Amino acid sequence: MKRIIFATSNEGKMKEIRLIMKDSGYEVVSLKEAGISADIEENGATFEENAVIKASAIAKLTGELAMADDSGLEVDYMDKAPGIYSARFLGEDTSYDIKNNYILNQLKDVPVPQRSARFVCAIALAYPEGKSITKRATIEGYIGFEIRGENGFGYDPIFMVPEYDKTTAELSIEEKNKISHRAKALMAMKEELLHA
Ligand code: IMP
Repeated sequence: MKRIIFATSNEGKMKEIRLIMKDSGYEVVSLKEAGISADIEENGATFEENAVIKASAIAKLTGELAMADDSGLEVDYMDKAPGIYSARFLGEDTSYDIKNNYILNQLKDVPVPQRSARFVCAIALAYPEGKSITKRATIEGYIGFEIRGENGFGYDPIFMVPEYDKTTAELSIEEKNKISHRAKALMAMKEELLHA
C-alpha cells in the first residue's frame, strides 16, 4: 500500500486522521513512525501556507508523499484573531484557561450576533517533486459566555456550536469528529486522493 507521512507528533490528531483515512487506499504514518524528527518553522501568512510549508519540507526530506495540517480559531469581533497565531496567542506556554478567559473578557457584554467565530483547518498534501494541493474546512459557531466542558483541547471550552447548544468541549470526541474543521478538511482530501 502507498503511504503518506503526516507531519505531526500529536497522537490525538493521528488517531483521528487514521480513522478518517482508513479506506483511502493509503497508509498514514506519523513522523515518529517514519523515524523522522524535524523542526519546521511555520512562517506562512495563511493556514494554507503553513500547512504547505510543513508538508513540503517532509516530502522533500523523505522523498515520499507527505501531509500536514494547520488550524486555529478566528473570532470576528477581534478582527479574526488569534487566527494562525492560535497556538502562540498570549505566549506559547500560556495556559488555555488564561487564553480563553482573555477572549471572554474581550467580548464581555457583546451580544451573540457579534460573537461569531470559527475553527479553520487547512490540510496540505505535498509530493516530493514539489507539487502540493490544499483543502480548507471550517466549523462555524460563536464565543460562549463562560468556560464550559471538559473534553477536547485548546479553545474548545469557549466555542459554542449553535446546532448542539454546547461548546465543542461538551461534545463527545465522536460527535466532534463528525463535524470538526479537521475532519471535514481531511474528508475533502480523502475524496481528492480517491479520485486521483
Ligand atoms: P495546530 O494546527 O496544531 O498548529 O493548532 C493550532 C492551535 O489552534 C491549537 O493549538 C489550538 O489552540 C487551536 N485549535 C485548533 N483546532 C482546535 C480545536 O479543534 N479545538 C480547540 N482549539 C483548536
